[in-house]
Amino acid sequence: MARAAILYQVNQPLEVAEVDVQRPKAGEVMVRVASAGVCHSDLHVMKGDLPSSLPVVIGHEGSGFVEEVGEGVTRVSKGDPVILVWRAPCGHCFYCLRKKPILCDAGTRIRFTGRLFDDTSRFSRGGQELRHFAGVSSFSELTVVPQQSVVKIRRDVGIEKAALVGCAVMTGVGAVINSARVEPGSTVLVFGAGGVGLNVVQGAALAGAERIIAVDLLDNKLAFARQFGATDTINGGRENVVEAVRELTDGIGADYAFDAIGNIKILEQGLEAVRKAGTLVCVGMPHYQAQLAFTVFPFVLAEKRIISSIYGSCDPWVDFPKLLNLYVAGKIKLDELISREYRIEQVNEAFRALEAGEVARSIVRFD
Ligand code: ZN
Ligand code: ZN
Repeated sequence: MARAAILYQVNQPLEVAEVDVQRPKAGEVMVRVASAGVCHSDLHVMKGDLPSSLPVVIGHEGSGFVEEVGEGVTRVSKGDPVILVWRAPCGHCFYCLRKKPILCDAGTRIRFTGRLFDDTSRFSRGGQELRHFAGVSSFSELTVVPQQSVVKIRRDVGIEKAALVGCAVMTGVGAVINSARVEPGSTVLVFGAGGVGLNVVQGAALAGAERIIAVDLLDNKLAFARQFGATDTINGGRENVVEAVRELTDGIGADYAFDAIGNIKILEQGLEAVRKAGTLVCVGMPHYQAQLAFTVFPFVLAEKRIISSIYGSCDPWVDFPKLLNLYVAGKIKLDELISREYRIEQVNEAFRALEAGEVARSIVRFD
């Protein structure tokens, strides 16, 4: 038995209850979750903006300790501190072999079926099957995941903050370093100063961007952005973003624009705000049916690029430990990301605060 947050219906509060968790099968790992990040993608699912099988044990950003390993598990053993991966790759398909594990179709299937690789669930309540969310379900004291969904980490970083590397930090920093490959001296525009956007900002600082312009509707979040390395801020509710960016860049525009929100209006602004041969990077998750339309002629003349980045285009087994090393070396921030800590019973309040823009990131702690 484990306490967990369950989504039964979209637009309904999460229900916190005891659930039954089966022991790990072959190739699976049971993790005692210590910390789970409160991320917008969960909120999108709760509001029906992103599809999910229901009912589901939610949460996709988390860390904890290995509780038990199934037969044939070689990557980790009992007691290891781990970060959970929300895209479990199969390890042998076209994309896995090309070192693009996040694009693995098997991992994507888990996300949409809500079941593990053998197409069954380890969660139930009162005999009713509950689905896994993204193969992680971190809002549960105990979760069972494929062994590809755990990355063993160093022991000297607090387990509670390590959780954030599993989604927000990897997604933001990776979009800059792995996907866009921002060069030193660049001008980088970042829309959204929440969990992912702040990590785009610190990723840009890490990459040596000379100017980092953060855009948000809330001044308290722009203050967070400055703390993470933004050199300039624009309140998109009060200012014309495209004009403000032009003013800050001698009329040229930004080298890169990152949308960390997933909003069509922002993508339009970003495409306008980047200079000729500049790059717009789509990072945030839009509504799953949202469409972007733009006039192609000036786009072609200006040699602009639009690229997308999922999960920071990462290889979790290489990049998660690297991010923790960068944290220990003082080159990226984790502590300042955690504005609040909640108990699992307060999970609905945590999502309310997230939606209200009150926090950089919050976590649910089980220990
Ligand atoms: Zn997330
Ligand atoms: Zn694969």
